[in-house]
This record gives sequence, structure tokens and C-alpha cells, in this order.
Amino acid sequence: MHRRIRLTPLVIWFVLGVPIIGAPVRTVAPQSLSTPDSSRAIAGAPTLDSLARLLAERFTTGAAAAFDSVYTDPLGRRVMHAAAERKTQRVSEPARVVWTRGNTAVLLFTPTVGGGQGRGLSSGGDETNTVRRLSGFYEAARIDGEWRLGRQVPIDSGSFIRAQRIHVALDPGHDTHIVDTLDIAIGAPSGFAARLNNHAQITRLSLDGRDVPHQLAGGVLWFASTARPRARLVIEYAIAEDERASTDSTAANGPPAYGALENTDGWLPFFGYDSGNDFAQITVTVTIPAAYRLTTSIPQTEHVANGIRTVRGESIHPQFILSLIYDKDWRVTTTTIGNFRFESFITPTFHFTHDSLASIITREYRLLTPRFGDPQPPSRYLAVVESRVLKGAGFTVRMNNAVVAGDNVTRLDEPTLGPSAAFVHEVAHGWTMDASGPAANFLQEGWATYCESLLLRELYGPAAEQAVWERIRTSYFGGQDRAGFQGGFEGRQSLLGDPDNGRIHYYKGSWIFHMLEHVLGASVFDRGMRTFVAHAGYGPNGYQQLIADMSLAAGHDVGPFIMPWLTEKYVPDVDARVEGRSVIVTQSQPTRSYDLPLDVELHTSAGVVRRSVHITGRADTIDVSASGTVSDARVDPDHHFLVRRHWGDSARFVLRAPEAKKVELTGNFLAQPLAATRDGDLWTVSLFLPEGRYVYIWRVDGTTTPDELALRDAERMPGNVEARAGVLVVRPVRRLPEHDQH
Ligand SMILES: [Zn+2]
Repeated sequence: MHRRIRLTPLVIWFVLGVPIIGAPVRTVAPQSLSTPDSSRAIAGAPTLDSLARLLAERFTTGAAAAFDSVYTDPLGRRVMHAAAERKTQRVSEPARVVWTRGNTAVLLFTPTVGGGQGRGLSSGGDETNTVRRLSGFYEAARIDGEWRLGRQVPIDSGSFIRAQRIHVALDPGHDTHIVDTLDIAIGAPSGFAARLNNHAQITRLSLDGRDVPHQLAGGVLWFASTARPRARLVIEYAIAEDERASTDSTAANGPPAYGALENTDGWLPFFGYDSGNDFAQITVTVTIPAAYRLTTSIPQTEHVANGIRTVRGESIHPQFILSLIYDKDWRVTTTTIGNFRFESFITPTFHFTHDSLASIITREYRLLTPRFGDPQPPSRYLAVVESRVLKGAGFTVRMNNAVVAGDNVTRLDEPTLGPSAAFVHEVAHGWTMDASGPAANFLQEGWATYCESLLLRELYGPAAEQAVWERIRTSYFGGQDRAGFQGGFEGRQSLLGDPDNGRIHYYKGSWIFHMLEHVLGASVFDRGMRTFVAHAGYGPNGYQQLIADMSLAAGHDVGPFIMPWLTEKYVPDVDARVEGRSVIVTQSQPTRSYDLPLDVELHTSAGVVRRSVHITGRADTIDVSASGTVSDARVDPDHHFLVRRHWGDSARFVLRAPEAKKVELTGNFLAQPLAATRDGDLWTVSLFLPEGRYVYIWRVDGTTTPDELALRDAERMPGNVEARAGVLVVRPVRRLPEHDQH
């Protein structure tokens, strides 16, 4: 996944066509979908101090409704509600009053959820991540004699981290000691705050050379200060050994053979995973016993002296938190690809060689660079890292200049049953990983998933590319993958309403890029992307910038096209019906109208003809009086848009299994396995499906066909009744019964 890539879900090679939807590597504050009503009257308190106590009290002991009666932020409420539902321990000191003037004030609220499971890196990172949408600054105001809590003030308001010079003493099996010298800007009189691992033990903190009092609670490091445009902050701290590393150490009493400080552990100060204000020029110097190799996730050099390896990394352009990953068994290989250095950190048992990785990277850069420019310009370094901390995983995550894999990589891509391309996904993150703001995940995950389709086309042809979009569409609307994940984002989530690493960003998000390329044409789209990529990491880099860059390239405002895809929970429900000498094209989704330049296919007495209609409202009319008798009209026949489909056919799935007692059909288009009906040796499932491409796998006597066998059958015996898996293409033969449409 991307800059803050740390959140990339595991890529699972389940052939159900939903490879990018396994469990997240690290769960970062899973949150429910309820949207609280913030319009209700808010309770207050007579003094600021009593408001500060009331907030903590309602958080720690109250029910969700009691908390909501004093607290309004929707994302913060989700954190509290999820903790209350799961009965997770909630802890909070009274909020701290950090600024007042007359009838207004700023409070710092730093609660913790859970905790107590450990004192090390992982649990401290989990604590910081869990409350990151809740812990922070809030406005308060006195109205009619009562103090009430107002909106959350982003902790990066006017504040910046512009540079970090980091020294790390790493000794696996022992605490990690860190000295970080930061160039910062402090934007507000309420002091400086940044998120940090909640278990960091800070021994010293100085601002412009003077020691200052500070607090670390709720994953937020804070100290009082006046606003100042430039300041030097030095923090010395230790973080206890990672629980992950200590539990899977092969030598029970010895130091672990491998380990990691991942960016999501929050081991360095940062504002948030979608802030644009903490991209910093970074230098890092790490010492570690010479038996280990180590990657800093940025371009690096190293030397060994007196049994100590010293690795020095330096970012080429502003970057987000680093990851440090180390392993005793790595072989490190460095070669040159085009204008950059490629370095691999992999164990001898890793499934792919340095050279095979280099060749796919070369192919990807040759395809993407001419279209979209250099990634994160000027990019001169790419690493591939096998992190054995990620057990059982494939290529899962992008961290700065490093593509990170788990210890169980078996494929780079899979064009048939997936279809997907996990490795190129992680490499493609380089182009948009510095995106920021509330749609950062759309710009990161949507982009990288879109690039998978480009690479699959390059490697396997246009049908493989189209199959990606069919797979993503099917998963968007519903069904279930083998990990038990229920798709079905329609009507439940929106990209801007669900800003965290929700899977919707991979699905609807990737479609936005795909549709933009179609609507604008590749040359305009490419020009817009090149501009967007070129300013990555320098200043704001969110969806507004993408819209501005695309609009400039297109010569008109593309905002009306893009915005509904970001704000709405429903995709267009477009349809066309023949009424006399007209075809009426409608969009009837329950939310706002989309701006859609559609093709409509007319079936006439003289044959099939295409007409264009640019629908912006609820309905538009095409005059077809010149086209003879029109019998049917079908919208978007080439599937250029993520819209509901009203045409399809009855589909029949057949398996020959004479010995079986029970046979069920599974697939990403099915929410539940469907029981097949027996007729002699044959088992059959019949149902209506919208036009599209469907991947299915049989489950026989309760056992789902293993991925490798399913893939082999699907490739070697397409359509054969003996095959345990396959692909079925459904054509738009008839208008579907209403309940079978999607
Ligand atoms: Zn990704």
C-alpha cells in the first residue's frame, strides 16, 4: 500500500478474485460504520476544569450515548463506541486546558483504549493508533454561562515537522535508544503536539536548547510553547523491545534473528497517517551488531567497525516516518536499474531471486515512467525487503522506498482467478505515496490498484486488464472472500466518510482512476497525473490538488465528475428505456446525481448502433426517430463505469462429482456458499447474474478447493464439468429481475 503504506492489507492469493482484501497486517483502529447524529444539543459544565473532568468521566465510565452528549466529532465517537461495544478498558486523565481567551479555550484530551497487554514497541504503537482519531486538541466555548466542547482541532494545524536527524542504537533483545533532532514550526499558542508510541520512555526533551516539561499520553507528545515559525526540538527516548520479536525468537533465550520498528509503530514523532505537514527531510544513523543486516527504508550506505554495523540513510525528498527492519539471514544485493539503485534484502529461501524482481521492476518503470513521470522525483532508490515479522504473508506493504514482503511469497501476479498483481501494486505506490488529506487512501490504494490493471494488460493482454475491473466491481457490490470478508460497500461507505485504510479505497478508489482515464483520454489523464506526482511531498497533496491538476490538463473543471465518487455512498444506478421514438436515460440512486458521459447501445431493426449521452441530472432523452424501430437500449455496454447493471442472463454452474455428498458454489459474487442440486453424477447451481465476469470455486463435502488446484483446473479445463474452479462470463441477454440487479 503506500506512504503511510504501512496499512496495506495482506495480499492473499485466494482465487476468489479478491486478493487484496485479507486482514490488515496491523489492525489500526477498526471502526464501526454508524454515523452519529451530531446535531443533538450538547451538554456543558459550569467551568473549564469541570468540563475537562466531565469529558474524561463520560469517556471512561459512560455509555456511548452519555459520551456523545458531551462530545461531537464523528470519527472520535467511533473510537469510543467501538471500545464500549467490545468492553475494552478506557482510561483518561481530565483533559488539560492548554489555552484560554475570554469565552474560548483549547483542551488537550488524551485518552487510552485497551493497553496493559505489554510495555513494548507493538503495544505502545497499538495504543497510539487506536485513539489517533480521538486523542488531541479540542475547542471549547462558553455559551450562556456553560462551557461546551466544540470541534476537534487537528494537531498539525499550522505546525510542521520539516526535518529529522535521527540516531538509533539498536540491539535486538534490548531496548532501542533514540535521539531525534527535529526542525519544527509551532503554529498555535496551545503548544506543540505530535503522535508518538505511547510507551516511549522520554528521558529528555529540549526546545531551542532549553529543557521543557512535556507529557506523553493517549499517544500524543505535548509541550507548552508560544507559536514560533522555526524551532529545534531534541527528544531522547527509549522504547522497550518489541513483543513480536521476543515471542517468535527461535532461540528461546537469545536475541531474535530478525525484527522491525515499523512506521505504524509510531516510533518517531508524526502528526497522522494522512497529514501533509510531517513530510520531512530525514537522515538516520543506526547502529546494530554487525551480525545483522538492516534497511532504513530510504537510500542508505553502511560500514562495519568493531563488531558494530552503522547504517546511514538519507531521504532524497521529504518523507514520512521510516521503518527499520533487520535480519541476520539476509543476503543483500545491489544493482542498477535505469537511473536508480535497486537493493534486495532477502533470505536464501525467498521464492524470487534479485534478478527476477529486477526484471519485473524494470518492466513496470518502462510502462509507468513515460506516462506519469518519475515516482517521488527524483527517485534514485528502491528496495525489496523480506520481513519475517510478517508471517505467512506475501507482498503486503510499501514503506518509503521499500517494498516489503512477508515470508510466504509464492507469486508476483495471477491473471486468471485473481486477477491481480501484488508486487507491481507495491512498486506503483511510489507514484502517489506522498498523498495527504482525507482522501489520502484513495490516492494511494486506488492508484496502486489501478496500476495493477495497467501491468496485467502489459503482461497478459487487454482481457486480463478488463478482468481486473470486473473482479473489483463484483467485490465492491457484494460477496465474500475466503478470509470471510463481506464485500458490499454500496450504500454503506463513502471514500471521504471512511478515510482510514478501509478496503473501499481499493475498490471504488481504483475505479475512479480507471474512469478518469476513459473520460479524459489517456494523454490528458497522464498529463494531470504527471503534474500531481511531481509535487508529491511538497505542500498539500490531496484530492483537491488532483482535481486541480486534472482540470488544468483537461481545460475544464473535472470536480463535478470526481466529487460524487468521493462523497456519496451509492454509485450511479443508470438505466435506459425505450419510449416511442425516444430513449430515456435515467439515474435513480438515492443520493446526488453524477456527471456521466455514457455510451448507450441501441438495438434497432437495422442492427446495433451506439449513441452518446452526457447525463448530469436525473434523466435525459435521446431522440431515436432516425434510428428506425428501437427494441432495447443498454447503458455503458463496454463497462467503462462503476454503475449498477440491469442486463444479464441466467447462469448455470455444473460440476461432475459422483462421490460427493454435498456440493456448494463459492465466489466473490456470493455472500454465502450456494448449495448445488444433484442430478445423477452432476451437481448444478442456476441463478441470474448481471453481465460480467465471475470467478467461482466449488466446495465439495465442506472442503473448498485449494488455491493452487483451483487455479490449475481453471487454466487447463475452462468450462469443463470436471474443473473445481472456473470463470463464467455472463452476457447482457435479458433485463434482469429487479432483485438480481447490481
Ligand atoms: Zn497498497
